[in-house]
Amino acid sequence: MLEESLLNGLYCYLIMQTKPARSMVLPRMVVTGPGVLEQIPAIIAELDIPERGLIVCDTNTLDIAGNQVIDYLEAGGHPMQKVEIKGANIDELERVEAFSENIDFLVGLGGGRPIDIAKQAGFNKNIPFISIPTAASHDGFGSARASIRRDGLKTSMQAVPPIAVVADTEIISKAPKRLLAAGVGDIISNQTAVLDWKLAGQKADYSEYAAALSEMAAELVENDISKVATGKEEGVRLVVKALISSGVAMSIAGTSRPASGGEHKFSHWLDSNYDSPALHGEQCGLGSIVTMYLHGGDWERIRDTLLAVDAPVNSKRIGIANDVILKAFINSKEIRPQRLTILDRVSDREIEEAALVTGVIS
Ligand SMILES: [Zn+2]
Repeated sequence: MLEESLLNGLYCYLIMQTKPARSMVLPRMVVTGPGVLEQIPAIIAELDIPERGLIVCDTNTLDIAGNQVIDYLEAGGHPMQKVEIKGANIDELERVEAFSENIDFLVGLGGGRPIDIAKQAGFNKNIPFISIPTAASHDGFGSARASIRRDGLKTSMQAVPPIAVVADTEIISKAPKRLLAAGVGDIISNQTAVLDWKLAGQKADYSEYAAALSEMAAELVENDISKVATGKEEGVRLVVKALISSGVAMSIAGTSRPASGGEHKFSHWLDSNYDSPALHGEQCGLGSIVTMYLHGGDWERIRDTLLAVDAPVNSKRIGIANDVILKAFINSKEIRPQRLTILDRVSDREIEEAALVTGVIS
């Protein structure tokens, strides 16, 4: 509890220190720890949200925690409806939005897709949304952006952050280890994202406070990676808190820049052009090794941190061919071309050399 209030204090400090003209929307409550799910009726009462709720989940997350959440909320006097989605696409978004007349709040429960759909539906229909992650595989569960498929292609949409994040680390600890390793990849890539942001300078509205929070989140995970590698609750909690801080850094900055640079453009290019991409955090972690090399930074530390949690550090391990990886780095300029990164500043030959020297391709 003390830790939480310190964290809240830090956020307040950061808000006060940024430019007065910048407006920020942040989660009002962040509750993390083992068994916190049962606090959900109390959290909703604290937020003063009216009665009727809709839980967005999938078949898997309904079993993991969805039924439990419904029981807790109904016992707390909230009549609940549920939608089991089959993917994060426009059709499913419209299906969830169709409930908007009859509900007062949305709960997104899952590793990614149900949270993306609930977040976007809440934004479009102006309904408060509570995020309950069941895995710590990326920073989307606390951020303002939603990844939704339109015409088969993943698109990143602007929404608002959840009104509350309830991260039960006992449940998240039971998720496959591969998901936690991907979360490490997503968080560690904050370091290269910040370097890219700095490179773009004032034009990119650089905020040193948002950058510091984002970098700190990555460093705390990096410094204690052996704890994370055990997969135990303590290590999982470290990653969860770092991913939440990453979302807060983006909210402070009013842009995804603190946690999304060239390594994310590399990942987005793979998502848009390659049939069976790996996990978002796996791709970003791999991308970060190469962009850190190009920045002249400690790329070996990034690689070793990823290795410690068994995250992929080369083409073979990630299951994507060498030429596709190289193409993704070189063509990542096509993704959000206005977002300048180190990949725009170097030649194709230098990118290839970086990928070879770091062992990302062979
Ligand atoms: Zn990410």
